[in-house]
Amino acid sequence: MILAKKVRIRPTPEQEQKLWRCAGVSRWAYNWTLARQEENYAYGGKFLSDAVLRKELTKLKQTEQYAWLNEVSAQTTKQAVKDACGAYIKMFRGKSGKPKFKCRKRSKPSFYSRYDRFKVNGCLIYLEKIGWVQTSEDLPKHDKYSNPRVSFDGKYWYVTVGIEQGQEKKELLGGVIGIDVGIKDLAVCSNGMVFININKSITVRNAQKRLRRLQRKVSRKYEMNMEGSRFVKTGNIVKVETSIRLLHRRLTNIRTNYIHQATSAIAKTKPCVIVMEELNVSGLMKNRHISKAIAEQKLYEFVRQMKYKCEKIGARFIQASRFFPSSKLCSCCGRIKAELKLSERTYECVCGLRIDRDMNAAINLSKLAV
Ligand SMILES: [Zn+2]
Repeated sequence: MILAKKVRIRPTPEQEQKLWRCAGVSRWAYNWTLARQEENYAYGGKFLSDAVLRKELTKLKQTEQYAWLNEVSAQTTKQAVKDACGAYIKMFRGKSGKPKFKCRKRSKPSFYSRYDRFKVNGCLIYLEKIGWVQTSEDLPKHDKYSNPRVSFDGKYWYVTVGIEQGQEKKELLGGVIGIDVGIKDLAVCSNGMVFININKSITVRNAQKRLRRLQRKVSRKYEMNMEGSRFVKTGNIVKVETSIRLLHRRLTNIRTNYIHQATSAIAKTKPCVIVMEELNVSGLMKNRHISKAIAEQKLYEFVRQMKYKCEKIGARFIQASRFFPSSKLCSCCGRIKAELKLSERTYECVCGLRIDRDMNAAINLSKLAV
């Protein structure tokens, strides 16, 4: 299996300038592809393949007006066109919505770097047209690195590469684990492990409080500095907006890190099978009372990590159908309750079972593996 490895890079100021240019050109090529597809569609044309568009882009590069496109590696723009076409294909297959234009302010700066020029030497990596860049930690030695991508998270630059890894050959003694994920707790496992909701912790709450305060501050500043009906950006506004961006970054990092810890702890018990429910996050997001809490839990990320960590240790990963009544079913006698409100935290059955609602669901899921 191929696992992605992400390390922080420490570019020099000149290199950082080049990185920004690559990210900018890559974004431009992506947006250009979307615009060409839309224009073509408006005139009644069919989907343009990336090969056609790449040829068009090559011609564009020869004109004087677009000569600046040649400042970055040809592979970077080529991959951006491919990515944009790939996003359309994903939409045609019903796997995602319509691809969106990458806005300069909101999109994450990132670009593809040529894989066959990518080299590693200790704590140095080589990126085409950028040169040798220092990394914060050594990348594992390997003869083939795939799909190197460079990205910026609002504070630091990173490089992500795919590295082929063999499966760990260990005995799996942990048995079957059913996992119920939700809002009250992140995950309740049938073996008794419980992972709390990190968003209820004091650290996250305080960070969110500070975030709200800064957001109020910045909107107040915008109103104060209005010239007529126009909003003006002052130096102080830029400063506050930077701290808001960094705080968002910190919250994301806390949440992702916590999910990594939880999924790793589960994988460490060496289960042979893991059963989870198929998530219907977009359905849950329609309920405006819980949509924010659902988004903050990053449940898709939990499933994604659990899946690849299972593959890594050689465990089976099963997803139950979303119509399986994991919560309503009694894990003791098999009766199904007609109705179960979200507020009912304890499951009570006529057979005498009294159990935590999520634990009941986790046990029901674990039984599916047999
Ligand atoms: Zn029962």
